[in-house]
Amino acid sequence: DAHTKDEIQSFARIFGIETEYGVSVTGSDRPCDAGQTAMMMFQPIVAEARSTNTYIENGSRLYLDVGSHPEYATAEARDPMDALALDAAGELVMRDLALDAQRRLRSIQGAGSTVHVFKNNVDSAGHSFGCHENYLVRRFVPLKTIEQELLPFLITRQLFTGAGRMGEQGFQITQRADFLDEAVSSATTRSRPMVNTRDEPHADPDAFRRLHVIIGDSNRSQWATMMKLATTHLVLCVIEQAGREGKDSGFARFSFADASAANHKVSRDLTGVEASFDMADGTVMEGGAVAIQERYLEIVERFVGQHPEVCSSLPRTDVHEVIRQWRRVIEAFRSGASETFADKVDWLAKRRLFDMLRNRAGSRLSVSKLEQLDMDYHDVANGALYASLCRRGAMRTLVNESQAHEAIDVPPHDTRAALRGRFIQSARSHNAQYSCDWTRLSLTSPNRMDVTLLDPFDAQPSDRFLTILEALQ
Ligand code: ATP
Ligand code: MG
Ligand code: MG
Repeated sequence: DAHTKDEIQSFARIFGIETEYGVSVTGSDRPCDAGQTAMMMFQPIVAEARSTNTYIENGSRLYLDVGSHPEYATAEARDPMDALALDAAGELVMRDLALDAQRRLRSIQGAGSTVHVFKNNVDSAGHSFGCHENYLVRRFVPLKTIEQELLPFLITRQLFTGAGRMGEQGFQITQRADFLDEAVSSATTRSRPMVNTRDEPHADPDAFRRLHVIIGDSNRSQWATMMKLATTHLVLCVIEQAGREGKDSGFARFSFADASAANHKVSRDLTGVEASFDMADGTVMEGGAVAIQERYLEIVERFVGQHPEVCSSLPRTDVHEVIRQWRRVIEAFRSGASETFADKVDWLAKRRLFDMLRNRAGSRLSVSKLEQLDMDYHDVANGALYASLCRRGAMRTLVNESQAHEAIDVPPHDTRAALRGRFIQSARSHNAQYSCDWTRLSLTSPNRMDVTLLDPFDAQPSDRFLTILEALQ
């Protein structure tokens, strides 16, 4: 229809962030494994929803698959700031589930039991888990093109989106580089580098895809969460417009000969300018991740100059400000002053902290102590470190605690998440049984009724939707 046609032509985007959390219990009288802990956290959910898979009032999905990683997937957002607010709400939801489980645990297993919920990507046993970014992209661009032109950007953006990790081999920029070989190396050759092979657009399949980025770290830094979505959006705009016009985006020449090797190099070059890369065209690129980011930025800047309508693609984010911040962070690395971003970039914040502690304690500071602090930084339930950085202004926030609280109950108003949220609020307040997925709302009791929401951009209630709401009264 006409709506979808406009959306195909425009630069509008749908964003979603899925975050898997790691859980553990310390100080308990009896051992409590991660699976048990996660189940304990989800007891109140199961009691109400009769399932470990549910959607909450803000339109987001909260679930526990087999295994021990509770997951929260933000509702569809048109703007990185909305996705950020929903993501921050997710941290609070996880914290509440954890502290509630902790109260129950303490009554049976001793007052010392502490539940940890880590928003990171590697547990203490060395297992890796994910943070997926979802972007709605136009189907007319071949997936292979998107992958090839986006991957060098995704690998090098880790300079400012990496969460940092203290591992056996020292400190590195990303949590995931050591674990993603298969996913990244297959990039330029056969399968899906950074995206799932499943094709589930949760939208009109003829018009759209859902690009499913898996190589990123989970971020505590709100600035990093916002910037990773916003800059990736801009790069995607260039790729889509090139597809529309049948032109070359200019990004293809940044393809690495070996994406996985490049990913490792980026993660281990803390200067951002020293690594050199073997490129797919046989040349060698000097200048580290910074050199590649500079080229992406240059193309994006020129593009936005030529297509000012890109600026209205994000209803609440100033595209020029995103570009300014992007330029500043790259320039900081270029001039050897990356520490000026230690209040915005997770890995730089951690490195500053570790350096400070090392200077104070010298050799008395063990690697295992640093690893422990590293974990604490990511603990959204009982971690002290990150919260204290925010309090002292040593870490910038873009969404304050009360805005994050509000986002637990309030969906974005300009996507179908608004309808899902309204439906859930109404169903819950009338004690009705319901279930959802991204494209469907189902009332299961008192009546069986459902409605399909195929267009993620559409927040207008249909007659069918209103009939269901009325049936609930
Ligand atoms: P998993 O990887 O956990 O098996 P999944 O990736 O298929 O599952 P979910 O965990 O359910 O999916 O999360 C889907 C994410 O995609 C959510 O953040 C949601 O907001 C987002 N999303 C929904 N519809 C679209 C769309 N049409 N385009 C882009 N993103 C979407
Ligand atoms: Mg998921
Ligand atoms: Mg996923």
